Amino acid sequence: MGLFSKKHKRDADMDHAAERKRMVDEQIIRRNVLDERVLTAMQTVPRHLFLPGRYRASAYEDGPLSIGHEQTISQPYIVASMTEQLEIGPDSRVLEIGTGCGYQTAVLAEIAGNVFSVEIVAELHQAAKARLHQLEYKNIHLQLGDGSMGWESESPFDGIIVTAAAKHVPENLLKQLGVGGTMVIPIGGQYDNQRLIKITRTQSGLVTETLYPVRFVPLVGDSFPPT
Ligand code: SAH
Repeated sequence: MGLFSKKHKRDADMDHAAERKRMVDEQIIRRNVLDERVLTAMQTVPRHLFLPGRYRASAYEDGPLSIGHEQTISQPYIVASMTEQLEIGPDSRVLEIGTGCGYQTAVLAEIAGNVFSVEIVAELHQAAKARLHQLEYKNIHLQLGDGSMGWESESPFDGIIVTAAAKHVPENLLKQLGVGGTMVIPIGGQYDNQRLIKITRTQSGLVTETLYPVRFVPLVGDSFPPT
C-alpha cells in the first residue's frame, strides 16, 4: 500500500472512531451500560466493516439493521448490554449462538479469552469467518451447525449468549454452562413478547432473572421447528 492510501485509510478510521465515540456516549453510557471493558470493546470494533457497503453509512445509528438472508445486526445498545450482563473477563470462555455477521462475536473477543460461536446459515458462517480472519482475531472459533446443541467438546463455558429468540431454554445449552457461569437468552414468541432472560449457575443451583423486552429473529433448527 502506498503512502497516500495509508494516510487515506488512517483518516477514514479516525472518522469512524469519532462516530463510535458518539455511539458509546449517546446510546450506551446514557442508557447506563458503564462496564469499562464493554465500553472499550464497543469503541474498538469497526462496526461498519460488518455491514454490506450500502448500509455502512448507518453503521453507528441507534438501531438494528437488516443485512440480507432475513438477517439482522443487533442494535449497538443491545450488544453492549447483553455483553455487560454476561459478566466475563480475560480468562472467560464464551459460547455464542447465532454468529450472524460476527459483530457481537468480535465485541466478546475484545473482552474474553476465547469465544466459540455457532451459526446455522452456511453463507453467514462463511462470510463471518472471512471477515473475522481479516480483522485478525485469533481467539474466535466458529462452527457451522445448530447452536441449540451447544458446543459440547469445548464446554463448560463461563458465558453463553444466544442472539436469536427461543421458546424455551435449550437443555443442551444449560448443561454446558459451568458453575459461576452466566447465560443470556431471549425467550418468547416469533417476533413479539420476548424477554431477555439471565440465568446464573451457582454452587446451589440455577438463578433466573428476567431483564427487559427484546426483539430477535427466531432460533431455528431441529430442536426448534418453525411454527
Ligand atoms: N449476533 C448477531 C445477531 C445475529 S441474528 C449480531 O452480532 O448482530 C441471529 C442469528 O442466529 C442469525 O444469523 C441466524 O441465522 C442464527 N440462528 C438462528 N437459529 C440458529 C441456530 N439454531 N443455531 C445457530 N444459529 C442460529
